[in-house]
Amino acid sequence: MKFNTKTIHGGQQPDKAYGAVMPPIYQTSTFAQSTPGGHKGYEYGRTHNQTRTPLENALASLENGNYGLAFGSGLAAIDAIIKLLKSGDEVISTSDLYGGTYRLFTKVFENYGIKFHFIRMENASNIEAYINENTRLIWTETPTNPMMNVIDIEVTAAIAKKHNIILAVDNTFATPFLQRPLDLGADIVMHSATKYIGGHSDLVMGALVVKDKEIADKLYFIQNASGAICGPMDSFLALRGIKTLHVRMQRHCENGKAIAEYLAAHPKVEKVYWPGLEDHPNHDIAKRQMDDFGGMISFVTKGDDYDQAIKIVENLKVFTLAESLGGVESLAGHPASMTHASIPKATREKIGVVDALIRLSIGIEDVDDLIEDLAQALSK
Ligand SMILES: *Cc1c(COP(=O)(O)O)cnc(C)c1O
Repeated sequence: MKFNTKTIHGGQQPDKAYGAVMPPIYQTSTFAQSTPGGHKGYEYGRTHNQTRTPLENALASLENGNYGLAFGSGLAAIDAIIKLLKSGDEVISTSDLYGGTYRLFTKVFENYGIKFHFIRMENASNIEAYINENTRLIWTETPTNPMMNVIDIEVTAAIAKKHNIILAVDNTFATPFLQRPLDLGADIVMHSATKYIGGHSDLVMGALVVKDKEIADKLYFIQNASGAICGPMDSFLALRGIKTLHVRMQRHCENGKAIAEYLAAHPKVEKVYWPGLEDHPNHDIAKRQMDDFGGMISFVTKGDDYDQAIKIVENLKVFTLAESLGGVESLAGHPASMTHASIPKATREKIGVVDALIRLSIGIEDVDDLIEDLAQALSK
């Protein structure tokens, strides 16, 4: 089955009870048993739910995996992955990554004796220097947030395999429409389904997909034992979002390209970070590993002026100034004062998050209106 059919039918079938085409919202915590243990496959809502099951099947199908797991947030999904480890284990992670992931690793799991190495992975040969007998997990995000660096999943997966280390990829920015990390050798793919998977800025959710039964069994155990599941209503909304993932992503990519090119040619713009531009430092990897380049763009205006960047994001009218990304509506953010404000200026500038950096999540509105909005905001 091709991807554009999978979004609608992958892992899906009409509901067994009455043939409902969309799974009903089974808003229940428990299930009647005829005799102790005599149930119809569902006993308690943390363990399983008949709205969550089709969602988990759909996620597995989209990522070409065998097992899907849905969680109450992206961070809850990452939390479950780290719980595969134990005290003394070590993780090698990309240094340019979602701030909340960094916070979870350093402020929560370091307290449990897990050691994290944050390194640049655009050059995969950097990784092996950090591998030792305690290394259990390589954590990557590609493209990264907000600098849009691209990491070669296939090369990284080969290194992980060679040393018998699990490779997990945060696929939130790309979505399975653009890249399928399991096909490239990754062991676990993770999503903040809050973003493109849900796609409508109306839920918070996380997802994991794996091929290997042994890893899946451990993760299902953690999902049930720790209990960070998502509810039936959110499962329904995510499934509805998935049905249009391919058409939304197509438009996100088209609009992203037009806006990246518009900004790159704008006299007030110093630099545009979008993996589809030929001058992007990892454009070759992106071309090889992604089917298109997505709708996330960061850019810097000339002079690196903090106040000017704030003015631009305040003056945008069609773009909404907000955290998050991946919804149908266009959003703008100013990482230095918003998502990355807690990082000292010198440290954040080392990864490229300068004062004038603006991050855009390009929505699926008419691109002319988006460009006109950027033009008026940049002209002020
Ligand atoms: C938002 C985000 C997360 C965290 O997901 P939540 O659903 O907000 O918990 C993780 N990784 C990336 C790349 C994200 O954008």
